[in-house]
Amino acid sequence: MGRKLLTEHINVEGIDTLDVYRKHGGYRSVEKALKTMTPEEVVEEVKKSGLRGRGGAGFPTGLKWSFLAKPEGVPRHLVCNADESEPGTFKDRQLMAKLPHLLIEGMITGSYALGANTSYIYIRGELLYVLRILEKAIAEAYAAGLLGKNILGSGYDLDLYVHPGGGAYICGEETALLESLEGKRGNPRNKPPFPAVQGLWARPTVVNNVESIAAVPVIVNEGGDEYAKIGVGKSTGTKLISACGHLNNPGIYEIELGLPVEEFIYSDEYCGGIWKGRELKAVVAGGSSVPILPKELILKTAAGANRLMTYESLSDGGFVTGTMLGSGGFIAMDETTCIVRNTWNFSRFYHHESCGQCSPCREGTGWMEKVLHRLEHGHGRMEDIDLLVSVAKQIEGNTICPLGEAAAWPVAAAVRHFRDEFEWHVTHAKAAAQPGAVYPGTLVTV
Ligand code: SF4
Repeated sequence: MGRKLLTEHINVEGIDTLDVYRKHGGYRSVEKALKTMTPEEVVEEVKKSGLRGRGGAGFPTGLKWSFLAKPEGVPRHLVCNADESEPGTFKDRQLMAKLPHLLIEGMITGSYALGANTSYIYIRGELLYVLRILEKAIAEAYAAGLLGKNILGSGYDLDLYVHPGGGAYICGEETALLESLEGKRGNPRNKPPFPAVQGLWARPTVVNNVESIAAVPVIVNEGGDEYAKIGVGKSTGTKLISACGHLNNPGIYEIELGLPVEEFIYSDEYCGGIWKGRELKAVVAGGSSVPILPKELILKTAAGANRLMTYESLSDGGFVTGTMLGSGGFIAMDETTCIVRNTWNFSRFYHHESCGQCSPCREGTGWMEKVLHRLEHGHGRMEDIDLLVSVAKQIEGNTICPLGEAAAWPVAAAVRHFRDEFEWHVTHAKAAAQPGAVYPGTLVTV
């Protein structure tokens, strides 16, 4: 059984209230940081912990914090990215709904470290019920002197606001989020300047994912070195994985980084294997934007090593034979899954969510969706398969924000690993167009 650093008390009755949360050690990191540590010391502990951004990019959090410009007299901000909308990823909403005070504690400690006196939680608009839970918890924290002026008599002031988005996936991109928070249309900004220099209202700003901020209290309480003892190599600590798809036990799991993928899928402690006694066909390991891998490559690297749930192991082999840990949205597909249909489905999503600012993404996502639609519906041509790869390549690296790559990578990977299935959709067009039709090549049972 792996250690649960964030979710140990998640099922305690009333843990969403301040009293119960404090009885289980809540807000110790605020006391410790504000009363016994300088902001620089808090940043140093986060650096030592090796914590990497849990939203998808995996950038070292402490390093990101240390980039924050510190011009005298200019306000700085910590913004929590709670705009979780990546298909397959549903961990942050649960963390916030069940443990709102853990996020608030992380926001206070993190804001102190960054010298921010006004901070924001930007939450996905559809999560109205979570917003209400957070607002109730924030009101409790104000009443207890944990927010507002002179927190716990330390002389440090912090105001914390929750701001709902309008339900646009693109607002999960940090600069689009900042635009939206400023009251504008959520279009990603050209970079540089990066938010650490010119972020919210052109002030130095750090944007961190919910899970990253929720890890800060643990790091401050236990110390960065202790946190870094968990995990493997540069993948330290624990990670929330939202597991869904054709699994016996879908759900949200806090795992120690380094857990073998095979154990995660098949062990009863975690996903309990593939449902209905079927075979695993493919996995999207880190949310819909990361490359899909067939069973053989998700369980073992191309060199034959056991694939681990770490940033490094999952990306072993680059995008030829590897993928990414991403946001931890783990989607398992059984042998009856049609990869072409699944890819078309993802493509529709990215086309719909493209903000339209740059041509390769605006046009390319639409082209890929159309080509995939005709392949799936029995009108595809053999040359469409390479056309898909060509469009994906022309999007990659030519856009303002990573949504372009998020749309291109799944398509390119699906063709790379399942080309025979795409070809079958052309050669067996009528059969492939039937509802529920599945390429028979990978079927073990039907
Ligand atoms: Fe908008 Fe797509 Fe360009 Fe991102 S890549 S800025 S979503 S058009």
